[in-house]
Amino acid sequence: MMTKTISKQVKFKEGDGFIHGFTTGQVKVKSKFRTAKGNAFTSKINFLFDREWTEYMPIMVWVIDHPEGVFVVDTGENAKVTQEGYFKKEGRILNYINTKSFVFEINSEDEVGPQLKKLGYEQEDINKVILTHLHLDHFDGLSYFDNTEIILNKLEWDKPSFALPSLYPEWFAPKTVGLKETKNKHFKNSISLVESNEIELVHTPGHTLGHCSVLVKTEATHFLLAGDVTYNQYQLEQRINAGGHQSFKLSKVTYQAINNYASQNRLVYLPSHDHQVFERLQNELHLEPN
Ligand SMILES: [Zn+2]
Repeated sequence: MMTKTISKQVKFKEGDGFIHGFTTGQVKVKSKFRTAKGNAFTSKINFLFDREWTEYMPIMVWVIDHPEGVFVVDTGENAKVTQEGYFKKEGRILNYINTKSFVFEINSEDEVGPQLKKLGYEQEDINKVILTHLHLDHFDGLSYFDNTEIILNKLEWDKPSFALPSLYPEWFAPKTVGLKETKNKHFKNSISLVESNEIELVHTPGHTLGHCSVLVKTEATHFLLAGDVTYNQYQLEQRINAGGHQSFKLSKVTYQAINNYASQNRLVYLPSHDHQVFERLQNELHLEPN
């Protein structure tokens, strides 16, 4: 059993809440997929022919239990991904890329549905699912949310990268939201998801053009559920691009925006595939701006 879970009690203006995080299995990727070699174009070729793998990394799902509702951020992976031919409907090229670049390890009890149940949530308790972007290991638990509103940045829906639409549930029609320039001066485009303004969807492009993070503002600390902005905090601190990033230029802008935000707020950085997120959330270890 490789599942790891954390539940952190936090204080919002209107009362106590929780941030839960858990892994839905784990994934290893080509080393040059995680750490870019070359430019935004050649890095894609370099990771395809890379022979070296990373260690297994977690695939995180987050739950924000807020006085105004329960929000699930990303849906993780499902156990069928390890079955032969899972990507076949996407054609030979995407089948090749996905089977050669990633190795997943996940059991059915690691999926988002059973894990939410263990935390005491049924599907009807979930107000909204928020997707940071449309990569497989973020949307592939959607089958548990057929009656839940799914929120996605409109730009991500219109211009996804490495999309695998044949793997979406047939009912999938997310509520696409347009982000606007808001009061949040560090992240140029954002939208508030609650009246209190304590949960914001913020545009953090680079990994994909429409990639978003979810900013959770508690009394003491702000938490950035950062999807795949980077694969770990070190990459952010050192301004390292991942080979899988779509735009290196936009990544750099996003890294700087997060850094600037952290210079004015106590910010805990929580990307989806970082081993350290459990400790960082538990102890509210914040990002030191540099
Ligand atoms: Zn991704």
